[in-house]
Amino acid sequence: MSNVHELGFLKDKIQELKDQGVYRKLPILSSPDDAEIILNGKKVINLSSNNYLGFANNPRIKKASIAMVEKYGAGSGAVRTIVGNMDIHEELEKVLAEFKREERAFIYQSGFNCNAGTIQAVTEKGDLIISDELNHASIIDGSRLSKADRAIFKHSDMDSLEDVLKEKRKDYRNVLIITDGVFSMDGDIAKLPDIVDLAEKYECMTYVDDAHGSGVLGENGRGTVDHFHLHGRVDFSIGTLSKAIGCIGGYVAGSETMYEWLIHRARPVLFSTSLTPASVGAITEAIKMLMESSEYTDKLWDNARYFKEKLGKLGFNTGHSETPITPVIIGEEAKAMEFSRKLLENGVFVSAIVFPTVPRGTGRVRCMVTAAHTKEQLDEACRIFEKVGKEMNILQ
Ligand SMILES: *Cc1c(COP(=O)(O)O)cnc(C)c1O
Repeated sequence: MSNVHELGFLKDKIQELKDQGVYRKLPILSSPDDAEIILNGKKVINLSSNNYLGFANNPRIKKASIAMVEKYGAGSGAVRTIVGNMDIHEELEKVLAEFKREERAFIYQSGFNCNAGTIQAVTEKGDLIISDELNHASIIDGSRLSKADRAIFKHSDMDSLEDVLKEKRKDYRNVLIITDGVFSMDGDIAKLPDIVDLAEKYECMTYVDDAHGSGVLGENGRGTVDHFHLHGRVDFSIGTLSKAIGCIGGYVAGSETMYEWLIHRARPVLFSTSLTPASVGAITEAIKMLMESSEYTDKLWDNARYFKEKLGKLGFNTGHSETPITPVIIGEEAKAMEFSRKLLENGVFVSAIVFPTVPRGTGRVRCMVTAAHTKEQLDEACRIFEKVGKEMNILQ
């Protein structure tokens, strides 16, 4: 009798991963996520986190979080619809709505949950979801959970979007156009004004996932909708609280009507426990800090410009990023992975990103500059980039 518990079918698949050279082990961090980290036991400069503003280890935010634990405990104890809706959850939603300049905000336990819950709640059979081909996995999964039909347009290609609308709009009741606000692999910004114009021309709703735009773009990090002054014209404005905000969680900002419906139909909120008091405390403080001052976003952009310019002057190809995301495009997959490995040996952690995450032949390392980096750390990182770049003949 074969032993079903051996999971032989998975062992076979794992062996395939090893044969293809894509098997991996998880890197282990034994420090806070900050500009410098202890990674696999060694101190290195960190250019890989989404902690854009350095909020993940900010003293004021940690203090606010600890205070909430003292007052409200470790967990919320239930889903929000039963007895897990604390006054601090309500307060956080008020603060987020004010920050996003929308009527209402609705929080989830993660950005992933937000896409998984919101898309299926606001679409149904007879509707169509139109999605940029490079949208995030959680948008793809969220769309799959919906009973609506799905269509794709070419990345940021407005002719392609209009072709889909011309062909299909008439066959559906409601149509929802979904885009990332900032695309995480190249750091390019969605053509939101054009998307919104087309959506209005064809009477469609719009949905922007601003995971990499919130805390980064717009006034004091209010996001891409604010960056383009499109308030009132985007129906669902999604943000994560786990990247620039430095903690965990996600939210959708929009109208009162949206909020009323989601508290009845957003499945990750109906069937999963609400955010912990520690998280709510940290997030609320972080959003208040952003509203008080632009010092954090200013520092982020200043560092990003400094680093990008310096790498460019050294002769690296930093692509067409419009945000602090700084790809260094190497080309061949194996070479990009070797570059990342050698950078780490020399003291800087930058993860390699290769096919199928990005097109074949555009293998890269992706640098995430943050407000927490000092100029000295960025200089040191550039020095290491130059040294390894020359050793590997990436630079002449
Ligand atoms: C990271 C990311 C998410 C997921 O956010 P989490 O809060 O980490 O779950 C969703 N959408 C996009 C575009 C992202 O980049």
